[in-house]
Amino acid sequence: MSTDTQEKMILACPHCHKKNRVAADRISQQPKCGQCKEALITGSPVELTIANHKAHMSSDMPVVVDFWAPWCGPCQQFGPFFEQVAPQFAERARFAKINTQNENVLGQRYAVRSIPTVAVFHRDQEIARQAGVMSPQQLHQWVEQVLQQLGA
Ligand SMILES: [Zn+2]
Repeated sequence: MSTDTQEKMILACPHCHKKNRVAADRISQQPKCGQCKEALITGSPVELTIANHKAHMSSDMPVVVDFWAPWCGPCQQFGPFFEQVAPQFAERARFAKINTQNENVLGQRYAVRSIPTVAVFHRDQEIARQAGVMSPQQLHQWVEQVLQQLGA
């Protein structure tokens, strides 16, 4: 039912983390941040911290988070897959990474028990999570399925 082209969505900037209000039909037109003038859609994962995560988690665009740590071997394997799949969803979901070693408060807040764990959040709600390494194809399929459930 989203035929209204004036529909606005809240989208946090991946560079300065300021929340922008963007018309839904402009998402595909390389919108820029009103504050820092950088691209709002990049296709690269954003590094989330205790300071900036709220702006993204509460956005209207779903957030796909890779919880990882530098000491975790499987995370090193999965990291490049995650970066590879991110641009395939650039206009539909914000891909983000949380380093649970630096940001252990976030790891605890989201009850991450093993890494890598990928979880999808939308407007501060957790929608789905999957622990363990997925291939790029599996990750793509899983994210696609979750986004379709959300109608995103
Ligand atoms: Zn910005």
